[in-house]
Amino acid sequence: MKPAPFDYVRAISVADASKRLHDGAGAAVAIAGGQSLMPLLALRVAPADVLIDLLDIPALEESHRISGGARIGAGITHAAIEDGKIEDPTGGIMKRVAAGIAYRSVRNHGTIGGSVALADPAADWPACLLALGASVRVSGPSGERVAAMDEFLRGAYTTSLASGEIITAFDVPALPAGTRWSYQKVVRKSGAFAMSIGCVVLRPGEAATVVLGGTTSRAVLMPQTALAIGSDEPALRAAIAADLDDLASDADEYQRRLHTATLLKAIREAADKAP
Ligand SMILES: Cc1cc2nc3c(=O)[nH]c(=O)nc-3n(C[C@H](O)[C@H](O)[C@H](O)COP(=O)(O)OP(=O)(O)OC[C@H]3O[C@@H](n4cnc5c(N)ncnc54)[C@H](O)[C@@H]3O)c2cc1C
Repeated sequence: MKPAPFDYVRAISVADASKRLHDGAGAAVAIAGGQSLMPLLALRVAPADVLIDLLDIPALEESHRISGGARIGAGITHAAIEDGKIEDPTGGIMKRVAAGIAYRSVRNHGTIGGSVALADPAADWPACLLALGASVRVSGPSGERVAAMDEFLRGAYTTSLASGEIITAFDVPALPAGTRWSYQKVVRKSGAFAMSIGCVVLRPGEAATVVLGGTTSRAVLMPQTALAIGSDEPALRAAIAADLDDLASDADEYQRRLHTATLLKAIREAADKAP
C-alpha cells in the first residue's frame, strides 16, 4: 500500500517543530529517520496530514560530555552510535546495542529519539536506556522538562509525550570503572525485532539493575530479580517468576519461559565477566 497524501515541512528549530506539531493538533506528525513511521503511514495505521521533519534541527544532532555522563541528541542515528562517533559513557553497551538493531540501512537512518518516542515494546533503546538510568530531555509548548526513562515509558507505543512535545536528547550516566554488564536479545532471525531482551548492569558497590524488554507492554525493571543476583538458580528463577507475576502482563507460558531463559543468560554473562 502507499501512504495517503500528506504535506511535508522541514522544521528549522526545536521551537519551530514544537509549534507546528502543537498547531497541527494530531494531524501534524514528527518524522526523524522515517524507518518506523513510513511503514506505518504506508499501512495507513498512523494518519498524518503533514509531516514535520526534525532532521535539519542542529540541536538534535549534538552529543557531548556532561557532568557524570553524556548528552546524546535525539537525532543521532543508530549507525553513528555503532561506529563510535559519539561519546559513549557506558563502556560499550550502547555501541553493542546499536549494532544489533535491524540491519545497516535501517541503522543509517533510524534515530535513538525516534526509537524511544515510538516506544515499540520490542525495541532496543527503551530497554537499554532504562537499564542505564538515562533521562529523556523533552521540549514543548510548556518549555523543557526532563523525565527518567521509567516515568517516560508508559506502555506499548505510549509515552508521556504531550501535544507539541519532542524529545531533544538523552542524558546517559557514565558507568563506573569495574561495571559488568550483559545485553541479551532473542530474535527469530538476524536483524529482526526482539522476542525477549535481558539487560543486566552490575555497578561495583551498588544495587544491580535488571531490565526485561520484548514484553507485551514496555521495557520494565525487574527489582526482585536484581536483588536475587548472587543467589542459586532456583532462587533466581523464583525471583524472575515473582517479577513476571507483578507485571500483570498477558505473557503466556512460552513467553514466560523465554523471558526467564533470556534473563538467566544475561545474569550469568554479566556475573562471569571480568571486572
Ligand atoms: C526492518 C526493520 C527492522 C527493525 N529492527 C529493529 C530492532 O531490531 N530493534 C529496534 O530497536 N528497532 C528496530 N527497528 C526500528 C528502527 O530502530 C527505527 O529507526 C526506530 O524505531 C524509529 O526511529 P526513526 O528515527 O526512524 O523514527 P521515525 O520512524 O521517523 O518516527 C517514529 C516515531 O517517533 C516519532 N518521533 C521521531 N523522532 C522524534 C522526536 N525526536 N521526538 C518526538 N517524537 C519523535 C515520530 O513522530 C514517529 O511517531 C526496525 C525497523 C525496521 C524498518
